Amino acid sequence: MTFTELGLNKQLISAIEKANYQKPYPIQAEAIPAFLKRQDILGIAPTGSGKTASYILPILQILQNKKEHRSRNIPVLVLVPTRELASQVAQVADNFSRFLERRVKTVSVFGGVSINPQMMKMNGTDILVATPGRLLDLISQNALSLSEVEILVLDEMDKVLNMGFREEVNQILSEIPKKRQNILFSATMDETLEEMISSLLKDPKRITI
Ligand code: AMP
Repeated sequence: MTFTELGLNKQLISAIEKANYQKPYPIQAEAIPAFLKRQDILGIAPTGSGKTASYILPILQILQNKKEHRSRNIPVLVLVPTRELASQVAQVADNFSRFLERRVKTVSVFGGVSINPQMMKMNGTDILVATPGRLLDLISQNALSLSEVEILVLDEMDKVLNMGFREEVNQILSEIPKKRQNILFSATMDETLEEMISSLLKDPKRITI
């Protein structure tokens, strides 16, 4: 199996070659074609499985068909539990974006640092990688709008819930259009999560690594 066979375009293939990825990891082989078909996805996969590229690569391909914009309407939202993961995901996105013709703007936001510089960066953001609390703060300051989100990724969802962000996540979900593509990753699965999944994901492709 090659990345080309998964449906990724030439620009992304050359970006992948520059990152020195020889062939897709199993999660990528399963998730990327489903993502490009615009299916919802449920991935039970630990850190280190290659889950980040499994959603960033198709996001970048989909964004290439969208016009660049200058607004504060975010088309792609990635929710993560921690500042560290937010930075890592944004770095992966930036790393692949460097080789694309369309400019892709990825911004990461998280708590524990001053909010003002984050507010100033929102215009023209394509991919917002955020922790739940800080995202709600930014919304309440009118720094951005989620009313045009087309793709929602919930990464390390078990950790998000274990950290007590359930209410924040529900609030964020109420800001996002119902018609959207949902991608959810978790290292573990339990009843609370199963419940959320059934209300959130529409006929998802289930992938277990
Ligand atoms: P992740 O699980 O997304 O944190 O990825 C774990 C590590 O695997 C990261 O250092 C990635 O750069 C690397 N990686 C992801 N996909 C591939 C691949 N197809 N080939 C080689 N390395 C990869």
